[in-house]
Formats: sequence, C-alpha cells, structure tokens
Amino acid sequence: MKILLIEDEKDLADALTAILLKNNYSVDNAYEGEYGLDCALTCIYDLIILDVMLPKLDGFAVLAHARGAGITTPVLMLTARGETRDKVAGLEAGADDYLPKPFAIDELLARIKALGRRKGEYLAGGEHNLGNNRLFNPMSLELKTESGTVNLTLKESQLLELLLSHRNTYTSKDMIIEKLWSYDADVVDSHVESQVSLLRKKLSAACPALSIKASRGVGYRLEGLDDV
Ligand code: CA
Repeated sequence: MKILLIEDEKDLADALTAILLKNNYSVDNAYEGEYGLDCALTCIYDLIILDVMLPKLDGFAVLAHARGAGITTPVLMLTARGETRDKVAGLEAGADDYLPKPFAIDELLARIKALGRRKGEYLAGGEHNLGNNRLFNPMSLELKTESGTVNLTLKESQLLELLLSHRNTYTSKDMIIEKLWSYDADVVDSHVESQVSLLRKKLSAACPALSIKASRGVGYRLEGLDDV
C-alpha cells in the first residue's frame, strides 16, 4: 500500500514516515501543499494523509483540487485544531476521515487500515482470500496455506497486492514501478521482471492455481482467481 504524506512539520513527517515504513507501507513525502497536490495528481496512491495547515496551498485547497481533478484516493486529514468546523469543512471537501493532532500512532495506524478496507480489497484483519483456503496478509507479508506459511518480501507483497487490486485487467510495468519504488528511484523494466519472477516462484509453491500472465508491451495479470 502506497501512501502520500503531505505534512509540513518536518520532524513529525519524518517520524510518521519511519513508522509507516516499519509497518510495510511505501511513503512519498510532500512538505508543502502545492508539491503535495502535484504528487496526488501525477502518482497513484492508496491513501493520502493530508495536513490542514500547509504553506503555499492549505489542505482544504489541495483536497478540493484533487477531487475536482477526479482523484478518488481515500484522504485522511490531520489538523492541529480539534475544531468541529475543520472536520466539517474537510469532510465536505471530500476527506474520508479526520484525525485531530496530537494523535496516538496506534490510532493513526487503525484509521489507515480502516481506509484500506473501505476500498473493498481486504477481508477482516487485512487479509485477502486467494481461494482454496489460502490467505494473503500484506501486513505480515505472508501467504498462508493449509500446509504452512510462505514469507514474502515487501516488494513481492506490494506486487501481489497491486495485481489483486487490478485483477480484471493488466497492470503495466510503469504502474508497478510507480507503486513499488519511490518516484525518484532509478528503476528499469528488468527490476520489475525479476520481482515478477520471484513472486511467481512463491505463488507456484503456495497457490498453484494462481499464475501471473505476462502480455508483451501491456503488463501483467493475475489469473486463476475466478473461483474466489
Ligand atoms: Ca501543518
């Protein structure tokens, strides 16, 4: 799951980023509103964490522009003031949830999980059903089968999550690069190919009914989920 964190208090942003990375999320940082909006419009995220008070463009304006441009990514708004009018304004502008500062990290992580679930991609507990009593848990990076557990790397897990969320269509290499690596990373197609090959090996061991089909020039698609 890839998160865009738009927060201008650098110490807080860096601390949150460290915690999110530790919890197996990918994070892009924006320390002001204009750049945050740029990221929201040009990259694909699963969640945007958006501070209200920001330099250049405040959180409400970022949200309004993003929603106006058709960006439907769930947005969790943060504000220093626990004021009801901020909450109402945020929700009216299209925020999905609201968390007043200061907040407990556990509370933030719970909200993030809930917003992820709201997208309809998760079972209770954050697990995906892969059929035949096989479960994929992107939080613990595990494929669970009746005969045991297969551990995935973070990138393998993110790739499987991405393919699952686009299960009826092909996912392009560009989109995979965008989701698995940070936007400024020096990544080429062969990096994607090797991640796909690593994931294929683990899937064929744990979930033989599933396969990753490649279409030259188009991308990859997960097959065999029809019965799930
Ligand atoms: Ca702020």
